[in-house]
Amino acid sequence: MKNKLNQFNRRQFIKGGAGLSAGIALMQTGRAQREGSDEFTERLIDASETPVLKKELFTSSVTIESIDLLRRDDQFFVHVRSTDGAEGIAMTNRSLVNSVYPLLLNRVAPVFIGEDARNLEDLLKEVFVRGLNYKWQGAPFWMCVAWVEFAILDLLGKTIEQPVGALLGTRFRDQTPIYYANGDRSSSAGEVVDQLKELIQKSGARAVKFKLGARMRFDDASTARDLALIPLARKELGDETTLYTDANSSFDVPTAIRIGKRLEEYNYSFFEEPVQFDYSEETKAVADALKIPIAGGEQESSMRRFRWLIENDAVQIPQPELLFFGGLIRCIRVARMAEVAGKKVVPHMSGFGLGILYVLHYASVVPNSSEYQEYKGDKDGIPYEVVGTGKPLESINGVIQIPKSPGLGVAFDPSYMSSAKRVVL
Ligand SMILES: [Mg+2]
Repeated sequence: MKNKLNQFNRRQFIKGGAGLSAGIALMQTGRAQREGSDEFTERLIDASETPVLKKELFTSSVTIESIDLLRRDDQFFVHVRSTDGAEGIAMTNRSLVNSVYPLLLNRVAPVFIGEDARNLEDLLKEVFVRGLNYKWQGAPFWMCVAWVEFAILDLLGKTIEQPVGALLGTRFRDQTPIYYANGDRSSSAGEVVDQLKELIQKSGARAVKFKLGARMRFDDASTARDLALIPLARKELGDETTLYTDANSSFDVPTAIRIGKRLEEYNYSFFEEPVQFDYSEETKAVADALKIPIAGGEQESSMRRFRWLIENDAVQIPQPELLFFGGLIRCIRVARMAEVAGKKVVPHMSGFGLGILYVLHYASVVPNSSEYQEYKGDKDGIPYEVVGTGKPLESINGVIQIPKSPGLGVAFDPSYMSSAKRVVL
């Protein structure tokens, strides 16, 4: 459902004078109200700034002694060690890390080494400004921060024998349904529907997502395929299947509205990135013209711009990307802003590098995370198991169990990791 009511309530709230008294309350707490802001904006800002990491769980410091990038074949892992000998490890995305690891080693890791890991949230701010790092802003920088954050959270969780979620909030969910995402744009409408049926059959998923447009562009052929695929998928997969679509920034505003109307006609549940990802006003124009929720934000790396998307109801479903936005803590801040606006988030994550693992821990503590979490299968096939189960993560009847052992809750095969080599520049 669209989030129009919230904006109405906001206006009524301010008109009624409640915004003024809330503003005075803020000033009484010593907090300066931002110029030109109002109560709703203040609540969004507070949501994005309130601490996430539960430092009070730790009674002594956890000093980071080393952060290394380890390589085994074409796979990379961030490994963190404390001065007490505790370790944390996070698998990275092999399709991305090869292009960006000098940033990780030169600009990100040095900010955390020698510091108390309990100050992780302060370090996430410091890493952006130290050495003019903000000039490297964007997905390549923040994904390096995310991998380091995952490894540090793994270390912290193991230190106090708690799963990562317990460090970041109240773990209220031990399992989650998934939606299976199909990325094929080269096949016909009929072939894509066959692929979706296969994905549903092997995972038990009750929700799927498929691609529209031609990725960052569209043409007559792609539009003809879209207009055939939308009704065909509904007909073949049935009314009981939840259907999502992703345009990857393909359309202009009129075409997005035309396609969106067709999605509404066939009861689709969201329409992702209908127009170019950084065209915020155009995204809002599409959202305003349609009833179907617009999902977006996977390319976003700025908290301020995410706030704009939420505050202006340009997206009804914010999609913080756990890598591109800089990790679990920053993405939880987006979820908290979304919660203020009465919205659910659908965290976005690549299928590589155990992406689903990080999505699971996020969903375990984010109450307004969507019903279905994005899943793309295990694209790496490296040897690991969920601690305590002896098995890797798997979707059974469309549901994945969230690891509950300390840290990230997975263990890589020691014989596989033993030949991993430290990457040096
Ligand atoms: Mg997408």
